[in-house]
Parts: sequence; C-alpha cells; structure tokens
Amino acid sequence: MHLLGKRTKIVATVGPASDNPETIRALVGAGVNVFRINFSHSSPDAARATVDRIRDARDELGMPVAVMADIKGPAVRMYGYAQKLPLAAGDTLVIESRPAEGIESLASPEPKRVYTNLPDIDALCAIGQRVLLMDGNISGEVVEKAAGCVTVRIGNAEELRPKAHLTIPNVDYPIPFLSDKDIQDITFAVENEVEYIALSFVRNATDIEEVRRLVQRTKIPSGPRAGRHPVVKLIAKIESAKGLAASEEIGNAADGIMVARGDMGVEIDIQAVPIAQKKLIRSGLLAAKPVITATQMLESMIEAPIPTRAEASDVANACFDSTSAVMLSGETAIGRFPVKVVETMRDIIKAVEAEFDYEAFHANTPEHARTGELAAVVSYSALSIAYEVAAAGIVVLTETGHAAQLMSRLRPKMPIFAFMRDATVYHQLAMNWGVCPFLFEELSEAVPEPAGGARKGMDALVATILGRCKGEGVLKRGDVVVVVAGLPLLRKGTTNMIRVETVG
Ligand code: PEP
Repeated sequence: MHLLGKRTKIVATVGPASDNPETIRALVGAGVNVFRINFSHSSPDAARATVDRIRDARDELGMPVAVMADIKGPAVRMYGYAQKLPLAAGDTLVIESRPAEGIESLASPEPKRVYTNLPDIDALCAIGQRVLLMDGNISGEVVEKAAGCVTVRIGNAEELRPKAHLTIPNVDYPIPFLSDKDIQDITFAVENEVEYIALSFVRNATDIEEVRRLVQRTKIPSGPRAGRHPVVKLIAKIESAKGLAASEEIGNAADGIMVARGDMGVEIDIQAVPIAQKKLIRSGLLAAKPVITATQMLESMIEAPIPTRAEASDVANACFDSTSAVMLSGETAIGRFPVKVVETMRDIIKAVEAEFDYEAFHANTPEHARTGELAAVVSYSALSIAYEVAAAGIVVLTETGHAAQLMSRLRPKMPIFAFMRDATVYHQLAMNWGVCPFLFEELSEAVPEPAGGARKGMDALVATILGRCKGEGVLKRGDVVVVVAGLPLLRKGTTNMIRVETVG
C-alpha cells in the first residue's frame, strides 16, 4: 500500500466531483499522494471540512498524504456580468478598470461592458495591443482607449464565462502579489498545518520571501504544536514570462516548483511551453526540490472514460523528463471519472517506470548533483553501493526531509524508505519522487545520546527499522539494504553514514 508500485507522485485537485470521504479514500487507494485545494474557487470556511476529510482518510488508511493549498495570487479577471456573455467576431467589448474591493458584486449596465481588477488598463495598453480573454480562448485587439478603460475588437466568436481571466501578454500587472483574500487563505493554510502552499503567478524571489515572512509571523493556534511556527513548504507556480525569466532565483527561494501550463500557455507563446517545462523540471531536479507538472494532463477525461493518445504521451513524457509529480485539475475536481482518471495516470506512470534506465541516469548524474555538499556525496555513493549489491531498498533517516530529497534527486531504481519522527515531514515527503515515508516517532527515544553509545544505538535502531519494513511487507528476509543516516542523529544536514545490511 506504500508506493503502490509507482515512483512518480500524483497531485489531485479536490472539487465537487471528489470532495466526499468515499471518493477521497478511493483516490488515495488509486495512487493520489497530494490533494490540492484551489483557493481560486474556495474559501477558508469551505476548505476546513475538506482538510478534515483528507486527514481522516489518510489516518484511516495509514498513508502519507499531503495537503496543498493553492493560493489565487495576482490574477486578473473580468467581472460585472453574471451569465455567459456571447461574443461574435468583430464585436467590441469595453473593459473598464475598477477597484478590486467589491468588484465581484458589481453589475454592468451595458451588455458589452465588463470590469477588471487591473488598475489603469488604458495606461498599460497601446492601440493594437493583443488581449486574450478566458485563458486565451478569445483573442482581441485594443482599438480605442479612454480614461480607465479600453475598447477591444473581438477576433473570434465564443461565450465569455463569468470571472474569466484577462491576459495582456508581456505586460507587468501593477497589482500587489498578495490580496487580502490571499493573506486570509495563507493564514488559514498555516493555522491548519497544511504541508504545502502553492503560490500563483510568482514573479521573483521577493514574492516568495514575502510569503515566508507572513508564514513565520503566524503561529499554530491549537493542537500538539500550538504556539509553534509552521514548517509549511512553498511551491512557486511558474506561469508568466516574468516568472520564467526569474525561475532560477525563484527556484532557489522556494521549496519546489509547479509548471503551471494553463496560465503559462496564455502568458507566453504556446510553442515555448514544452521547452519551459523541460527546463524547469531539470532545474528542480538539480536543486533536489520537487517539480509538479500541471494542467490538461488528462483533460479529455473530464468527460470521457479514456484519455486521448496525446494526453497519455504527455503524462509519459513528463515522467521520462523526471518530473517529481504530475497533477490533475478539473479531471478530479469536476470530472465524471475522478477515480478512473487517477488509475489511468498511475498506469501510464508505471509503464514509463518499467522502461526507464535508472542506472544510466545515475551514471550520467551531473557533477554538481554529486558534490558540493557532504550529504550529496554520501547519497551519491550510497546509491552506487546499492546498485553494486543489488539492494532491495535504501533506508534514509531524515530529520527535515532533506536527506530523502537528495536521494530522490538521483532517481534510484529501488524504493527510498525514509524514516522521520515529525508528522509534517512524513506527509510532505509524499510529494517526492520514489520516497516511501515512514513515521517513526520512537526515533527520539530509541536512540541513546551519541556520547558513548552512538554505534550501539545505531545497531538497535537499524534492527528496529528493518523489522518495521519487514512487518509492513516492503522488505523480506535476506533482502540487502543500504542505510543512510547522519551522526549525531536528529540533527539537520548531518548525512554522513552508509551501512549495508541484510534483513534477518
Ligand atoms: C495553471 O495555470 O496551470 C495552474 C495550475 O493554475 P490555476 O489552475 O490555479 O489557474
């Protein structure tokens, strides 16, 4: 039940099609490792029950499962119309800037006039500027400007959905990174101890640092960690030209990256998206941070029981490129086949993983993934030994999850059994490629203080861990395993020990 026969992780968005205890349990059983709650369509009040449902399911199933709150961020949308607005080619649509506060409840008196939360739209557009509505499904061109508004000539017939996205390609939007709603949603996420927060439309490292400061100011209000600071990880969604240009500094500041292809495909040329995807996966891999490939992966399964061949290839290619996780959005949030779509994704992943040449990947691991940090050298060498002795698994003792991430980066053929004493780290590692986390709270008591007893303590500890692996059916008598740990134990960043053991 631990890795369910796959190494690449699955992130599934919860929505009306899946937000009930039975479906959440079935999704975990089918292969979901991380649930995403999309705060573009949710609020703290609605999300509270969803978080509880996910926690109940993971406790019941005894599985590591992370919760990721996806924050709306500086989205630019259109308001003022409650029903779909039919637009024909050649129509003109007036888009008027209005203050964000209260904009959602405004009703436009004219059928072809809408409002946007983007301030001073006329100052941002020249005549002739290309404008994209509803994620690029409708294109238009600015033909007239007046104070606070522009007139757009529509290029193709389509119905404009309420609150549709507005995109002005290659323009920096003068709106703050976090709205009041975003701050409320982040505070909710932190207070409710979700494992990940995904941040939309990140533009630079400063955006990430702003959220880190907000997180650090918030304390956990109740429960066993009351009064402590959260250890939530931040995922930067790269989805704009600006974010892409700064992806290196963003990648350094964040704890992981999402290749958010939905908005990216509107914000930059569509043909640049696959190239950006490959580059972002590569950079996350080298940094030993998770990369999620997202959006439209099995989109046709919102309605259909099988995917298109192109979609199956898309999931497979992301896996061949070494993505850490693949994500489902509408497919599990509003689709007709939420469980079947996860099973389909899992089967595609398994097929790729049966073909992948892991040892060649290890042999070709770039120099800077092997060195630079003692823990990285130890991880690399441990994997070399694991291949030499045909190990059935690699056991990693980790305090913060970092040692497991370093091993995951090397994409080993054998599972990574990560043991830690912290429940948040346990669920966070559900996101990381090939990592099979085990919560081992006894770690604190099981180990005598290093003075005079490290070696003896380690022997007992390893025996207990291997016994646990055997008990859970992930290892059997006679299996050889490589154990990686840091001495002294329970300190951050000390990975310095490799042992080869045979399960007794
Ligand atoms: C995306 O744009 O690909 C994405 C994941 O973000 P959202 O679904 O929040 O628009």
